[in-house]
Parts: sequence; structure tokens; C-alpha cells
Amino acid sequence: MSTTGAGLRSALLAASALTAVFSAAAPAAAEGQLTVYCSVQEEWCRPMMAAFEKETGIKVSMTRKSSGETYAQVKAEAANPKGDIWWGGTGDPHMQAAEEGLTQEYQSPKNAELNDWAVRQWEQSKHRAIGVYSGALGFAYNTKLIAEKKLAEPKCWADLLDPKLKDEVQVADPNSSGTSYTMLATMVQIMGEQKAFDYLKALHKNINQYTKSGAAPAKATSLGETTVGIAFMHDHVTMIVEGAPMKVVAPCEGTGYEIGSMSIIKGAKNLDNAKKFYDWALTPAAQAIGAQAKSYQVPSNKATPVPPQAPKLSEIKLIDFDFAKYGSSEERKRLLAKWDAEVKNQP
Ligand code: PLP
Repeated sequence: MSTTGAGLRSALLAASALTAVFSAAAPAAAEGQLTVYCSVQEEWCRPMMAAFEKETGIKVSMTRKSSGETYAQVKAEAANPKGDIWWGGTGDPHMQAAEEGLTQEYQSPKNAELNDWAVRQWEQSKHRAIGVYSGALGFAYNTKLIAEKKLAEPKCWADLLDPKLKDEVQVADPNSSGTSYTMLATMVQIMGEQKAFDYLKALHKNINQYTKSGAAPAKATSLGETTVGIAFMHDHVTMIVEGAPMKVVAPCEGTGYEIGSMSIIKGAKNLDNAKKFYDWALTPAAQAIGAQAKSYQVPSNKATPVPPQAPKLSEIKLIDFDFAKYGSSEERKRLLAKWDAEVKNQP
């Protein structure tokens, strides 16, 4: 277990001992507008925006896209920004946007209430991205399909290379999906770059589809459209809570994790409202909406209860993920170009 994993573990224990404070503010008068780019699941984006509108009277216009896609949109709009704030999605593209000056510095009074890992993200991004939640990467299998097809239950990343799993594994495309980029960066950190690409090239033979969204393989596993899905473990748990015949696996070799993040877009036209959203999104009341929407990450505010369904990070072999390196513009661009050339479009 790395020091980072240990830090998360103690944060988790501290957070679970505290109780949330729920605000019962009445709807406020209309207070202008805000454009939010949301990179978590639509099911969480919608109640989050509705709660903010209700509490502040600010009219929210929300677009949901995966993490890598939102980064690309923010970059494409840099000369004439249309979004005000980017909430959720894996940290790496938020870090890249910070380095490229696409987002702006902000220090929230709520920083003092956050776990160390969330504040570290803010420090490493030079005060441009803050951690809002964390969760570990893993895979899950459909227990009915595994039994019907008489396949061995996979326990390790290495097991996913079994030729019997040809066309039975699904994962997202790391260009659009932060989940899948987390997997790419995780493999490089666990195996070293050469072996990681050898692994991903071999895994390609078993992949039935590279989806756009990171959580789609969890849904496909629940529906029996794929036997194995690679995604964040909490995304698989959402399916199991809904009754899917699935088992979630924390891979035996160890795994990476994300610091889901939030950034204010440089040139935001509704800057004051973006700051209001930012401060509010770091409160226990706002963060508790995740679990209500069946999103079971570990929240960044120490006073937000950790949902009991959240995979226990203390029981998972977490690598000491280098968020600064793998969120750097040069490294992210290089690894994605290499993945396109050597994995997806391999001869
Ligand atoms: N939805 C949830 C619940 C997540 O935890 C994450 C990761 O931050 C995402 C969506 C991002 O997904 P994607 O891989 O599509 O960028």
C-alpha cells in the first residue's frame, strides 16, 4: 500500500465518522445564469444542477460530456469561452487544462474542509483544479454469462488476456473517457511503459468495443452485452445496487484511482456565479447528492458521509498515482497518440 493509498484510507475513516449537514434553504430569487460542463453521469448531473438552481435562483444551462471530450470542448472554445465551470470528471484532463491556461485560479473558503488528496490536486494544478471525489479503477463481470460460458472468474488484470475472453471485454476509448485514460496511466505505472503497451495490445484482441463514456462498459456488463467491463469500481456498484448479476473486482496486481475534479473556465462570462457553484459543490449537502443519485465515490469534504456502498479504498491495493505527471499536457498527449497508433489502430 502506498502512502497515497494510506492517506486516502485515513481520510475515508475520518469522513465516515462524521455526519452531513443538510441545508434546507428556500428557493432564492432569480440571480442570473451559469453554464456548467458536467462530466459525471447524467443521472448525477441533473439533480446537482436542480439543487443549485433551487438554492440560489441562478438558472443553470448544463452540458454533459465525458472528461476528455469536455477538455477538448473547453480548448476549442478558448478564444470565446461558452462555459463557466467544469464540474466532475477525472482529474487528468482538468490538470492538462490548468497547465494550458484554459482554466483559472480560485481559492474557495471551503478548501479548509477538504481531505488532503483534494487540496493536493489544487496545489499541483497551481490553484486551478480541486478534488471533488475519488474512486478506484477496476473491472466487473456478469456472473450469469461467466457461468453459462464456463469461463474462469477473472481476478487480475493479467486474467483479462485469456484467449477464451475474445470479444468478451469492454472498455472506453481513453481519448474521450477519463476512466479509460486512468487505465492507460495505471498500466504504465504498474508495468512500465513497454510492458503496459504490450498488455494493452494483447487486451485489444479481447475488446468487443471501445465506448465513448467510461461508465458505459459497466452498464453493458449489467445488461449482459459484454461479459467483462472495465470502469471505476463505483460505476459497477451502481449497477449491482440496481440488481445486476455482477461481481466487482479490485485487480490483484493493484490499481489506479482518480481524483474527480472541478475547474473554473478562463474567461467565464458568469464568474461570480461560477464561484458560487464552486463553493457550494464543496459543501457536504451538495456532495451528498452523489449517493442519492447512486454515484458511490468517496467525497472530498471530510464532513460528507462516505456512502456505505462505496468501494472501500482501504481494502484495495492502490498505486501511488502520479497525478502531476500523467495530467501533464505533454505526457497525456503523448500517451494518447501512442495508444491510437499502437493499440486501437495496430496493424
Ligand atoms: N461518471 C462517474 C460516476 C465518474 O466517477 C467519472 C469519473 O470521474 C465519470 C463519469 C467520468 O467518465 P468518463 O470516463 O466518461 O470521462
